[in-house]
Amino acid sequence: MSIESIERNIQRLIQKQNEFFFTKQPKSVDYRIQLLYRLRAVLIENEQQIMNALQKDLNKSEFEAYATEVGILLKEISFITKRLKNWAKPQRSKTPVTHVGSSSYVIPEPYGVVLIIAPWNYPFLLAFSPLIGAIAAGNTAIVKPSELTPNVSSVIQSLVEQAFEEEQVAVVQGGIKESQVLLQQRVDYIFFTGSVAVGKVVMSEAAKKLIPVTLELGGKSPCIVHQDANLDLAAKRIAFGKFTNAGQTCIAPDYLLVQSSVKEAFIEKLTASIKELYEDVFHNPNYVKIVNERHFDRLVSYLDDGLIIFGGQSDKEKRIIEPTILDQVDMNSPVMTEEIFGPIFPIIEFQDINESICIIQQKEKPLALYLFSENEAVQKEVTTKLSFGGGCINDTLMHIATPYLPFGGVGESGIGSYHGEYSFSTFSHYKSVLKQTTKVDLPFRYPTFKHGLTLLKKLLK
Ligand code: NAD
Repeated sequence: MSIESIERNIQRLIQKQNEFFFTKQPKSVDYRIQLLYRLRAVLIENEQQIMNALQKDLNKSEFEAYATEVGILLKEISFITKRLKNWAKPQRSKTPVTHVGSSSYVIPEPYGVVLIIAPWNYPFLLAFSPLIGAIAAGNTAIVKPSELTPNVSSVIQSLVEQAFEEEQVAVVQGGIKESQVLLQQRVDYIFFTGSVAVGKVVMSEAAKKLIPVTLELGGKSPCIVHQDANLDLAAKRIAFGKFTNAGQTCIAPDYLLVQSSVKEAFIEKLTASIKELYEDVFHNPNYVKIVNERHFDRLVSYLDDGLIIFGGQSDKEKRIIEPTILDQVDMNSPVMTEEIFGPIFPIIEFQDINESICIIQQKEKPLALYLFSENEAVQKEVTTKLSFGGGCINDTLMHIATPYLPFGGVGESGIGSYHGEYSFSTFSHYKSVLKQTTKVDLPFRYPTFKHGLTLLKKLLK
């Protein structure tokens, strides 16, 4: 398609959604709940198609596809629809003595047309999860799924067409070109999930029109194993967190910091857990492949950045890389300066917890952080001294799967957050209204009031 026809189509969609928003504003909460129920029905009816597409693009097993994509969406819809009426109500606020006679309230209102740009690693979840929040808050939306998972993107388009009219929600498929055309348009909110580099492009485009953004980005998320950790459980939970989706998870542990005194024992347990959870990955239908050749080559090049102490084999045709542990890595090598986003796990050892804190502080603020320790003082030290988007003590990944915690980054790992009520507030503008009485008109605000200054000094301190 020529750039002109891409542009025309996108502008037509935005105009249609704008008209819809202003004439039949999707503000009624019952209407939004109906839309979310429709989406839920379509997700359930098409479950097999979704699974097939995830299998084709990423070799995701049905179990992994349900646990990490479809199931989470269904849960999010039921969580939000149960509570939406309450969140969407105007909220009364206090009124200070200076405003006596008036009342104050805050009305959550939708922004309007929301643009959602999604990545490929959880291609289904990360397109629909923000969409659920956008609809719940009463917005219309245009979703741009990733071009790197084309089967999933077609299913996303088909499901959206089954569930919604295009003035409510529309899908624009394509890659950088389409994304850039979308970013040049006047929309009311941009929700982007993807890399730090593209996040910067999105923010600078949004800044030209002062469009508010949420940026869900990535980076290097550390995982610390302290000597007093329950090493058996740590090994299992870290292996799961690192190698689920073959490490192509934004919050996967990127690198491991392990205390020297338990390094050998821990590596032994970690390799045992990997063998138990991900055996014979070249013939294992439950092990995810690398999304494309470019990422495969990038990952394989990291294997030269350290000493391979486990794994290291790969199959370019199948795009599979074994879970791999790297020791003796240089902090300045690419595997320690770039986001890995694959099944390669470098190990760094530290002597005491402060040393591990210093190592992390020298890097950008991570999206996630994981600490394995039984010691509460150590837990407090790490969670107060380090800034990170979110994380777990004695687990990996699980903080993303609760609707009660906001999910998002800080610093280079992102701006804003979502999930559960946080999704509703992300996609809502909280409009303040002061309703003044007309029964009295206190005179002290007017310049003609005799002792105005004296009274103001008493009231405003
Ligand atoms: P990406 O930034 O390459 O692409 C994301 C989206 O942006 C895609 O839809 C793509 O078409 C579009 N895009 C790419 N280049 C663009 C450009 N120059 N201008 C405009 N749009 C452009 O990211 P990806 O490779 O799809 O995903 C992997 C990255 O996403 C990793 O860094 C990972 O950590 C991050 N991620 C973050 C989260 C999170 O929730 N914080 C979740 C998943 C992935």
